[in-house]
Amino acid sequence: MKNSKQSIVEKFKKKDRICNICQLEKELSEDHVPPKACPPAKNIFIYKLLSEMTGDRSFRPRISQNGVTYKTICSDCNNKLGNRYDWALGELSQKIEGFVESSLTLPNYFEVECYPNAIMHSVLGHLLAAKTQTDEVVIDTLIRPCILDNSLPIPNDVHIFYWVYPYEKISILRDFGMPAVRGNFQVPGFFNMIKFYPIAFLITHQLSSYEGLLSLHKFNQLCPSDKANVQIDLHPIKPSTFPEDCTGVDNFLMLGRTANDSVYAVSKSKKIKK
Ligand SMILES: [Zn+2]
Repeated sequence: MKNSKQSIVEKFKKKDRICNICQLEKELSEDHVPPKACPPAKNIFIYKLLSEMTGDRSFRPRISQNGVTYKTICSDCNNKLGNRYDWALGELSQKIEGFVESSLTLPNYFEVECYPNAIMHSVLGHLLAAKTQTDEVVIDTLIRPCILDNSLPIPNDVHIFYWVYPYEKISILRDFGMPAVRGNFQVPGFFNMIKFYPIAFLITHQLSSYEGLLSLHKFNQLCPSDKANVQIDLHPIKPSTFPEDCTGVDNFLMLGRTANDSVYAVSKSKKIKK
């Protein structure tokens, strides 16, 4: 394995010129995941969390993934995301990084003062950008209005779960199904996922809990300019392939067309249904 930093940028493009957010036909611009406001992955953070919280000392700096771009939104919507919301996600990322780096011993959880509703808008905006076709998937139609007009609350049926993600690999997966409760194949849930250092998000429609993850749902009704304390769990640290991994017997994935626009790691398993 090479030790030198090697940058990878994966690029996705639309065939049409319809903006995924405002749905107008316009010149499209590149949306960057992670947003530019977010810090690049830091080896010391990754090593400290994995070695202290999971006992895994095998981490070595490898390939630095420089991001994923989706040429799917117009520059007006792109600027709106960048100016109104992305700074809040960047600030949260920096505060998590700063806390972990400056702590002599890591607690199981801590709290960060931040702008949770602005963070949610940022996550949902990039989620809308992360597909190369214009479609009317329910979650997209629900979240478009509140991205365009920040005086609108995030719909009650939309749930955003989050966890610390001390890994370099960026993973994005849109519109997929998997069991709402792992191991119970009777009830599928519908999910969207964006994971990049140092925090990961799982977005669901009408599913109010998943595997004990912390949720931002109590902040759906806040204004983007409202401050609040958000809990960050450091224990347990989820594996890098959580939750999409289906090598065990408790999970399977149902992938739709948008899986082609995704960047994710799922081992080839017969349980994957296309
Ligand atoms: Zn637009």
